[in-house]
Amino acid sequence: MSIWAPDSWTKAEGRQMPTYPDAAAFEDARSTLASFPPLVFAGEARNLTADLGRVAEGKAFLLQGGDCAESFSEHSANNIRDTFRVILQMAVVLTYASKLPVVKLGRMAGQFAKPRSADMESIGGVELPSYRGDIINDIAFTPESRIPDPQRMVRAYSQSAATLNLLRAFASGGYADLHQVHRWTHEFMGRSPWAKKFADVADRIGEALDFMAACGINAETVPQLGQTDFYTSHEALLLPYEQALTRQDSLTGDWYDTSAHMLWIGDRTRFEGSAHVEFLRGIGNPIGMKCGPSLEPDALLRLLDTLNPGRVAGRMTLITRYGYDKIEAHLPKLVRAVMREGHPVVWSCDPMHGNVVKAANGYKTRPFERILAEVRGFFAVHRAEGSIAGGIHAEMTGQNVTECTGGAMDVTEQDLADRYHTHCDPRLNASQSLELAFLLAEMLNV
Ligand code: PEP
Ligand code: MN
Repeated sequence: MSIWAPDSWTKAEGRQMPTYPDAAAFEDARSTLASFPPLVFAGEARNLTADLGRVAEGKAFLLQGGDCAESFSEHSANNIRDTFRVILQMAVVLTYASKLPVVKLGRMAGQFAKPRSADMESIGGVELPSYRGDIINDIAFTPESRIPDPQRMVRAYSQSAATLNLLRAFASGGYADLHQVHRWTHEFMGRSPWAKKFADVADRIGEALDFMAACGINAETVPQLGQTDFYTSHEALLLPYEQALTRQDSLTGDWYDTSAHMLWIGDRTRFEGSAHVEFLRGIGNPIGMKCGPSLEPDALLRLLDTLNPGRVAGRMTLITRYGYDKIEAHLPKLVRAVMREGHPVVWSCDPMHGNVVKAANGYKTRPFERILAEVRGFFAVHRAEGSIAGGIHAEMTGQNVTECTGGAMDVTEQDLADRYHTHCDPRLNASQSLELAFLLAEMLNV
């Protein structure tokens, strides 16, 4: 294999990236980013690798979640707080059920660039380049909006820095107190018609916390109860942005992409010979890779050899996304190949991307029952193969949106028009996310 450099990807085939029309404007944005400080530091990325290494061994569980696409217009403290809060609530339920620590990883503070199935989009006979995420172009359906603007990378960096700053404050400043998180769950459930179904688990968590409190175990005596580790991740799609934030760690001399703790490769850019694979193989961060129906076991093994030649546990997370009706046919052959070769990986289930349907009224949605069915299939396959079902990857928000149908609150196709706010794919809302955690808790307990 040839020698890796932060720009060696430019010699490989790069799909899903824009061509900037103004070279001088691009260079200006690139050099600005390259002069900015890192968003995360290498030691944090190494800590995440170690945490994920425990997930690979079945000693922890991974919860990765957040927006499909962050946007400039929906950037607010409340949105960040609410998504963070639901992830923590889910984590408490999952910790209780699995009796394992939960590694919390946001699709946040950098999840802007989107791969698209088609380069062009047409509405009412007008055809324009597709929207590729706020870091690249604008969602408004006008010719000017769809021109890639490199200054958007600078804005995305600033927004990511602000988001990360708030997340760090929430994670360490007392907001993540375990008792408080569970109190929110209680209050939230109290208002919902599905509370009865999960009241038993919620009560048992409450009792465990009361017992601990009675023993004098609280945030004052045990600081871990008042804070948490929270990591960030996004799809490493826009490589000029990722390259500009890739820095050499002064401690180890290794290169790290300091735009997030974990970066993943999407299903459309993980082909052999891809620029994205070339870029990611050289950075020290933990790496995710989406595995969809077109990935064959031999190709997966070659990719693992390229991306994790040292076979470091926690380096690779395989995020499978087949669709509820395909997972049981596709996943076993990958699991067998990976186990046979002894590659240490985290298996994580993305039950979102293979389950998109178009509602009769034209909205892109995901039925909650299908999401759940894929998660069930994921657990069933890993149980049958003797491998470890390590985690879950969800597109979700803390807001009360109506983007996915179903769930105990029963969002109908007619409801979709009420609060459909996503800039890309439909997300689970706060109650659907929490419901998923409770249902996962049942699966983890069998
Ligand atoms: C995503 O995670 O938003 C995404 C585009 O996923 P995939 O690459 O699996 O289609
Ligand atoms: Mn998506």
